[in-house]
Formats: sequence, C-alpha cells, structure tokens
Amino acid sequence: MKKHLLFLGPPGAGKGTQAALLSEANSYLHLSTGELLRKEIDLDTDLGKQVKDIMNNGELVSDQLVLEIVKKNLDKDNNGWILDGYPRNLSQVHSLNDVLININQPLEIVFYLDIPDEVLIKRLLIRGRKDDNEKTIKTRLKIYKETTEPLIEYYKDLALLENIKADGDLKTISADIKQKMACR
Ligand code: AMP
Repeated sequence: MKKHLLFLGPPGAGKGTQAALLSEANSYLHLSTGELLRKEIDLDTDLGKQVKDIMNNGELVSDQLVLEIVKKNLDKDNNGWILDGYPRNLSQVHSLNDVLININQPLEIVFYLDIPDEVLIKRLLIRGRKDDNEKTIKTRLKIYKETTEPLIEYYKDLALLENIKADGDLKTISADIKQKMACR
C-alpha cells in the first residue's frame, strides 16, 4: 500500500476534503500547510502575525517559512503522509525532494484533482473562508495557474501523476482515488 501521497489542484478542488478522508481511513498524517498556517493565525503567534495579511490577500507566503513547517511535521513519526497545498511552485518541489531524500521516504503518487474554473469559483464562494471572496479567489487562481500548474507536467514526467475528475460528488471522487491507489 502506498503511503506517501500528494494532492495537487486549484483552490476549491477538494484537496483538503479528500486528503482528510484518506488520511483518516489509513492513519496517515495529513499535512496541510494552509491549515497549519491558519492555526498560527488563530493562535495569534508571531508566525501567524507574519502571514495573516499575505494569506488574507490570497498571496503565497515565503518558501522558506513553509519549508520549515513541512520539515518540522514530516520529521515526526508517522505511518505515512499526505501533503495538501504543498508544494506550490518549482522551488518548493526541489526543497521537498531534498527533505524526502533525507528522511528516505520517496513520494509515491500525486493525485491531481482536475476541475473546471466555473465549478471552483462557485464552490469557493459557498465555502466562505476568510480568503474566499471574489477578489482573493481571482488572485489565488492566477497564482495557481502561473506557479502551481507547471507541477502537473513535472510529476507527469516522473510517472507519479494520477488524474482525478474532481467535479463529481464526494463519494465518487474518493472511490476513484481509492481505486487508483490500489492499482499502483
Ligand atoms: P490553502 O489552505 O492550501 O488554500 O492555503 C491557504 C493559503 O495559505 C494560501 O493562499 C497561501 O497564502 C498559504 N499557503 C498554503 N500553502 C502554501 C505554500 N505551499 N506556499 C506558500 N503559501 C502557502
């Protein structure tokens, strides 16, 4: 059974939901950089203060800062992990590769949640998180297309990518993910 996974896809594709379901079912660590950063903001830590405005504007926080969070969490004992929201650009991909070589836990599958823009925007507006307003959604989608989307090709070339049609209902999507995991 593969246990070092990554969810890739635009904001609102359902990465968090699917990663949570899968990690719960298999007792994997669910590492969502967005979730960890939001926690820091809620606790009003120094880190939280540093990233609050950036996140509320829908921009990316610094690679260095996110890398520290990822390193700290992957170091812990775990029965496998699912990365959600990291990496988001090629520089983060290379940092992640270094971390994974160090801990000797290579990435095994990248699930790309493929979904049309119209569906995303509708979903995000319903979700209603603090950074889910029209202006911020536009910024996040633009950044996604410019900096994160190239990662699809990168992981495809490494034969790690599994395409998941992500505009259906939750159960169909998670069944598809499970089936593709079993086939690997
Ligand atoms: P998410 O929950 O994945 O949608 O992330 C919410 C916000 O957290 C993003 O809009 C960024 O501001 C920040 N963030 C999360 N992950 C990263 C990352 N890998 N690199 C930079 N910023 C991130």
